[in-house]
Amino acid sequence: MKIISILCVMAACVALPLFSMNASSADNRQVVFIMLGAPGAGKGTQAVRLSEQYGIPQISTGDLFRENLRNNTPIGQRAKSFMDQGQLVPDEVVLEMLFDRLSSKDCAKGYILDGVPRTIPQAEVLDKRLSESGAQVIVISLEIPDDLLVGRLTGRLVCGQCGAIYHKVSTPPNVEGICDRDGAQLIQRKDDTEEVVKERLKVFHEQTEPVKGYFEKKGNLLLVDSSVSKEKTTAQIDEYLSKVLPSASH
Ligand SMILES: [Zn+2]
Repeated sequence: MKIISILCVMAACVALPLFSMNASSADNRQVVFIMLGAPGAGKGTQAVRLSEQYGIPQISTGDLFRENLRNNTPIGQRAKSFMDQGQLVPDEVVLEMLFDRLSSKDCAKGYILDGVPRTIPQAEVLDKRLSESGAQVIVISLEIPDDLLVGRLTGRLVCGQCGAIYHKVSTPPNVEGICDRDGAQLIQRKDDTEEVVKERLKVFHEQTEPVKGYFEKKGNLLLVDSSVSKEKTTAQIDEYLSKVLPSASH
């Protein structure tokens, strides 16, 4: 973990001058968080927390798909036609759903992206749009070795109602199988079996890890060691945010 710690310091050094230049206007600028990391690295958990802390919505690709399919929108139907054939939904379809969502009123102050951008083309289009809008962009990559992820993911439980994430061992609900927030049933996703998890990690390394390199080159990436407890992961992120977001004193 030494290497990651050093990288964190390096990333913070590179990123700080960029952000602090704009610190005086931070109060009225839109703040956009981009959460990167392998499946199971804790993106969802941190995104939910940041959403509550800053009062801005968390937007995941899963939510975008579900919302569009439920409302049977034209773009949802297009996405479904790819999924039905077992194909990846193309970048332009994902981006159209995303930009449609970002035009909502509740995104005016800012938002947290969880699971998107997933590819370099998605990152390029999004980055261009964010640069034009003058938003303050904070990219956080949660770093964790694959073997730890396999253990985490195969014990994961998700609330079918609100999407809250639990773990059989590390963060169990108060009542077994029941969500603490809304009392709904917790489920194990079909794709949380060991075989599927390993395949998902392979896809992540091939497709999504380059997105990290993209933002790293731009100098606004925070690398966070998320092989530690949730509290320690949170502390690393909050320490960084207290420097780059002057209004984030709570
Ligand atoms: Zn729930």
